[in-house]
Amino acid sequence: MSSAAAVSSSDSSRSPSAELLNRFSQPDAGGHFGEYGGVYVPETLMTALQELEATYLAAREEPEFQAELAHHLAEFAGRPTELYYASRLTEHCGGAKIYFKREDLLHTGAHKINNALGQALLARRMGKQRIIAETGAGQHGTATAAVCAKFGLECVIYMGAHDMERQALNVFRMRLMGAEVRGVEAGQKTLKEAVNEAMRDWVTNVRNTHYILGTAYGSHPYPMMVRDFHRVIGREAREQVLAREGRLPDELVACVGGGSNAIGLFFDFLEDPQIAMIGVEAGGLGIRRGEHAARFASGRLGVLQGCKTYLLQDEEGQIEGTHSVSAGLDYAAVGPEHAFYRERGRIQFTYATDDEVLDAFQLCSRLEGIIPALESSHALAHGIKRARELGPDKLLVINLSGRGDKDVEQVAAILRERADRSA
Ligand SMILES: *Cc1c(COP(=O)(O)O)cnc(C)c1O
Repeated sequence: MSSAAAVSSSDSSRSPSAELLNRFSQPDAGGHFGEYGGVYVPETLMTALQELEATYLAAREEPEFQAELAHHLAEFAGRPTELYYASRLTEHCGGAKIYFKREDLLHTGAHKINNALGQALLARRMGKQRIIAETGAGQHGTATAAVCAKFGLECVIYMGAHDMERQALNVFRMRLMGAEVRGVEAGQKTLKEAVNEAMRDWVTNVRNTHYILGTAYGSHPYPMMVRDFHRVIGREAREQVLAREGRLPDELVACVGGGSNAIGLFFDFLEDPQIAMIGVEAGGLGIRRGEHAARFASGRLGVLQGCKTYLLQDEEGQIEGTHSVSAGLDYAAVGPEHAFYRERGRIQFTYATDDEVLDAFQLCSRLEGIIPALESSHALAHGIKRARELGPDKLLVINLSGRGDKDVEQVAAILRERADRSA
């Protein structure tokens, strides 16, 4: 990567060339980013994945498809999103200038709609009238339910029963928009089990059903395709920061569940080697078995739900339980492209604990009048630390992947419990 980066960095205002990205950032024919990724699904799904790949690759090259997607992103989702200067948080930290990329302002409250719209258009092209999806925090389910209502598609959302409790508001929103929400009672009753159920449904109904996977994960072509649909985040951020500051930022920070908002922001800066990129995972209660979801902190290489990547698993290869205050980061595996760039030293990873996240959630709300999602608060927690370490001449962009309305009741309950304990 370094030699390619040196070539493109001579003109910092230019987006990375298609040729360089093709050489370094596209998966191989088998869907691998280096050693990671691939296709690990039952035989019955191979045809559907091949059809999806062919449909997507054709659409990607078509100006009409890109124009239609851009139209819906603007009219329905509310793009472009602002690049916001967080002046009081900057002052509070006393270091780098902090900008937020405001994906929280998008319709349905998070970046997820970028991808849901793109895949719904592909489903229409393939003549598939029925949509299924999995959801953790409920954000992807909500985005999917919204686009299905908009395009008149049947919609079934799988969600862990535990997540349905944590995110009751989003369950109701999905139902209001006409989706059927199916609770999953297996295992830990969170995202992993919901993905299993969605896969099972897809195998059974593949002929008329498209699976709108919600993050840069799973079997090829999903990680590449979902990333591409979120690249608009970084493309806009790049233009906006250049317009505002006349230069590129020094660091980018994003939270990493499956990795879609992070790769969406990072991708168009990959070829600028001077820009540091940090992915923030869920540190939960700390890095002990079953108490976090920081795959790069203690995970190992394995295969889960269609993809070879870093996983939280025990010595026998059993998937470990995970914990995070945020349902959207509570997953045992991480997107394969992140594993690839980490190995190459291009993206660094760290984690934020639940306590740090709750502090950042409150601080951002109080100082900026913006209530961030608990997921995004992971990026904030680390960004706040970094801003303090960096000098005031530095620029930091934090991806505000979603808004925190969905989390308010949960945070209220946690704060009440804390107050009771300390009383
Ligand atoms: C789903 C979600 C995430 C985590 O998913 P990624 O694919 O890692 O981006 C982060 N933030 C918000 C607000 C989400 O809804």
